[in-house]
Amino acid sequence: MSEPLLIVVAAPSGGGKSTVLARVFAEVPRLLFSISHSTRAPRKGEQNGREYFFVTQDEFKAMAARDAFLEWAEVHGNLYGTSRTEIERARSMGHDLVLDIDVQGAEQVLRSHPSALTVFLKPPSIEVLKARLRGRGTDSAQALAVRIANAEREVARCSEFRYVVVNDELGDTVRQVREIIEAERASSVKGQTPGSAILRD
Ligand code: 5GP
Repeated sequence: MSEPLLIVVAAPSGGGKSTVLARVFAEVPRLLFSISHSTRAPRKGEQNGREYFFVTQDEFKAMAARDAFLEWAEVHGNLYGTSRTEIERARSMGHDLVLDIDVQGAEQVLRSHPSALTVFLKPPSIEVLKARLRGRGTDSAQALAVRIANAEREVARCSEFRYVVVNDELGDTVRQVREIIEAERASSVKGQTPGSAILRD
């Protein structure tokens, strides 16, 4: 069975990443969403085993200690990690694996899987991002401040990604991500090297 392509999609929180990914999943066949483990509390409407596997700090640390994670990081004060079994799951289904992870996680994935396809969804501006985060209303003032500070740090590192897509108009963003995945799939079939970064700003 062929190795699944690892497609890492990172974006500062509040950047509309979940909406973009939901549309990409609806439009692109053979993609599997990697379900991370997290120690953060579930948000309203989230289900264990669907958005995340919600675990305690002790459970998470035990998994990290037995090297069960492909990558893991502390994000906004909580622990998040991709278990190695997600790659297995994608391989057995013949799907490519989409990892919705942060910049620290992307860096770790690239270290062990240099051929991973990395995409950064960049907010049109930090002001737009702040407005989106506040509008979401799911976080306390303190959590919001942490997320905004982290967003600024993440955007500063976007050049480490193979592709940077400015997430302005939803339809445009989805189309670009879809085209990036399709181009990568086509080039891995033909054994070509992938194209260069798409920069819209
Ligand atoms: P949220 O708490 O809003 O669901 O996610 C917060 C951040 O954690 C997002 O940037 C998300 O991409 C990141 N994240 C989610 N799962 C993982 C993971 O398994 N590993 C890493 N490194 N980051 C993750």
